[in-house]
Amino acid sequence: MNARDPNLALQPDQATRLGNYAAGAWDDEIVPRLKTYIEVPAKSPMFDPQWQHNGYIDRVVRDAAAWVEGRKVGGLTLEVVRIEGRTPVIFFEVPATKPGCTQTVVMYGHLDKQPEFSGWRSDLGPWTPKLDGDKLYGRGGADDGYAVYASIAAIEALKEQGIAHPRIVGLIESCEESGSFDLPAYLDALKPRLGDVGLVVCLDSGAGNYGQLWLTTSLRGMVSGVLKVEILSEGVHSGDASGLVPSSFRIVRQLLDRLEDARSGHLLPESFHCQIPASRIEQTRATAAILRDEVWKRFPWACGADGATAVPTTTDPVEALLSRTWRPALSVVGAEGFPQIGDAGNVLRPYTAFKLSLRLPPLVDGHMAALRLKTLLEDNAPYNAKVTFHPDGRAGAFGATGWNAPDLAPWLERALNQASQAHFGAPCGFIGQGGTIPLMSMLQRGFPRAQMMVCGVLGSKSNAHGPNEFLHVPYGKRLTASVAQVIAACD
Ligand SMILES: [Zn+2]
Repeated sequence: MNARDPNLALQPDQATRLGNYAAGAWDDEIVPRLKTYIEVPAKSPMFDPQWQHNGYIDRVVRDAAAWVEGRKVGGLTLEVVRIEGRTPVIFFEVPATKPGCTQTVVMYGHLDKQPEFSGWRSDLGPWTPKLDGDKLYGRGGADDGYAVYASIAAIEALKEQGIAHPRIVGLIESCEESGSFDLPAYLDALKPRLGDVGLVVCLDSGAGNYGQLWLTTSLRGMVSGVLKVEILSEGVHSGDASGLVPSSFRIVRQLLDRLEDARSGHLLPESFHCQIPASRIEQTRATAAILRDEVWKRFPWACGADGATAVPTTTDPVEALLSRTWRPALSVVGAEGFPQIGDAGNVLRPYTAFKLSLRLPPLVDGHMAALRLKTLLEDNAPYNAKVTFHPDGRAGAFGATGWNAPDLAPWLERALNQASQAHFGAPCGFIGQGGTIPLMSMLQRGFPRAQMMVCGVLGSKSNAHGPNEFLHVPYGKRLTASVAQVIAACD
């Protein structure tokens, strides 16, 4: 027996049926489709410059589009939109069934993937899907191949019970892991078809744990690019030249010292920092109280020299959360100009090149930061060495800007909590994420009044971008049901 409660957008039995529908859809359809998806090395164009010739991106886009169309969702129309020379976008549209509702819900996801990386468990691999208990392993399943499939399942879950919903459009891109440099052109072209966007559902983000629904409150921006220092035109005997010819590696160290305090990891230029809003610090305290040590313990720490494990920059959960979400940080993610260690003779190498990945706080402009970083690294080169920094992206659109969520509308806060209680038995959590989803700042600029439900399945140890990436299937099911429930509350 369920008492009808007028304060609930959905009654408990309706929420239960959403949950059951989502669970069935994952078992029968989404997991099998994702296994096929994981097998395709649909690397983002930055990691597969031959993507057009290789056809992998086209294949995952075609597979997803064919599946969506085959589902026969009432009123759904779909188009694979292609702008010459750019990665394709899936655009689908489902008319409103809620009377008088004029707003549109945009559902976003991406189908391109990060490259393989090393260190996969011997029974796993990036392109070999494996369902092991609750976890579906393989590259791209959780980031972010599931989004298009889960979005459709959420819509179907509503339609199955005849629950009214607003107009819904889907926007599934294939350039996200390259910084979405193709997306602005599509947003320009599709803007008239997006309509009056009231809610954006983005399923490309993370979760603090697997026990509740997590809303992402901010994302970092990013500048990535290649720093190269050339000192000689060819390598020479290190016994002959070292001490006289400056080491290109030492010059790189000097240049990075302009950017970062090597002892603390603190980024030196003030312009790469922003003020952290007081409300976000408040929210971070609440999140730290939920997650506590798990904030840093979830990483795969190495065993240190004395047998104790390696330690983070801070063990204070509040500082730990702020450092990974509201502060800039530099990572060196690739290198060139070095032989493999087994082939390394005593040679003074002619050049050193590093791929840099600089995460930026949510309120720092990515393009401006890219230009400032280029000047900082290239000006006044030590020893008059040839120093270049080539930021990723396209001219006029280097870097990606982060995002700080708009104030949460009361209806959305209520709907998120009701959905989290219904499907997880716990309230919704709020967390900043340190990753980057370029679309969010683009959409926020284009639709300043839209509310944003940014969520995802990337919880503890899911390890997107690294080895052993997995998707936590039970979380995916509950998230799908929660999305359906929130959409039902939107009007
Ligand atoms: Zn992603």
